[in-house]
Amino acid sequence: MSGITLNRRKIILTAASAAAGLILPPGGMALAHAASTASTTAQGGASGNVGYYRFRVGDIAATVLSDGLIGGPPQIYASNAPEAELEEVLRQAFLPTDRLTLNLNTLLIETNGRKILLEAGAGQTMGPQGGRIFDNLAAIGLRPEDIDVVVVSHTHPDHVGNLRTAGGGRAFPRATVFAPLADWDFFMGSDPDLSYMPVPEDFRRHFAAAIRQSLEPVASGIELYEAGTEIVPGLTTLPALGHTPGMANFLVHSGNDQLLLTADLAYHPIVNVDHAWLPGPDRDKETALASRRRIFDMAAADRLPVLGFHFPFPGIGHMLKTDSGYAWVPANWQF
Ligand SMILES: [Zn+2]
Repeated sequence: MSGITLNRRKIILTAASAAAGLILPPGGMALAHAASTASTTAQGGASGNVGYYRFRVGDIAATVLSDGLIGGPPQIYASNAPEAELEEVLRQAFLPTDRLTLNLNTLLIETNGRKILLEAGAGQTMGPQGGRIFDNLAAIGLRPEDIDVVVVSHTHPDHVGNLRTAGGGRAFPRATVFAPLADWDFFMGSDPDLSYMPVPEDFRRHFAAAIRQSLEPVASGIELYEAGTEIVPGLTTLPALGHTPGMANFLVHSGNDQLLLTADLAYHPIVNVDHAWLPGPDRDKETALASRRRIFDMAAADRLPVLGFHFPFPGIGHMLKTDSGYAWVPANWQF
């Protein structure tokens, strides 16, 4: 009997993660936190490879800080892909066909004496492989209290999860947190309607609760912005609505140098750039598609360096316009 129960549980979890593209543990954050702590080394990964990557955008020092990984059944991230075609595409990319792994590439920028974190990362809200940002901060000699500003593109758990400590406090105690106003209204208002997410009711409840719990410690003093506004000199937000009501993209700029952060316009370049399949968790798929095309066109036309939050680490490359759509061209590693 217990075997049957376990199997059923596994099936439900798989369905839930398939729908949202994320693993949300039914036991809550504490359970996942224990698993993460056990499997994380000082360098943030079992391999011992570093999880940070430094570069510059003009006068601005930039460092990709990995928060680790999330993932789920590939169909989640390519909701309108024919099953056989999706499998073949993944096979040709030498990727597993039963699970797509996504990175969590947060970006630290240092400008005018301020340390600004773009995206907080998932922490333990979406499975045991998240929450590595703190190890990676330590690896470059920084503590959470050194962060002055945190800006999130939208408030899904994998972007806000690290704002809360295990004890319920502010994980970045000195930081002013910026979040999109429309996301705040939608997710923090009374009971968000998540029926667009094709997941069991239980999963939706956990998803909404993870957002509320992550944002609650920073609610006092939070800065709610509308995409299109400048956060600080050198950091502008661009409207990229559709995935959520308020999702923004970020443009980091200094002199003639720019970097575009595309947040969740695409989850994985193989399925959402090289192939134009639609991410399942997009709340308004038409609006999200229009945002994707507008911003990808701009990136291609202006030859902008791009950072994809969920792309293979460190997530930097360029968007190439092709006859049929776009192609992702990863940048060479800089030593
Ligand atoms: Zn995301």
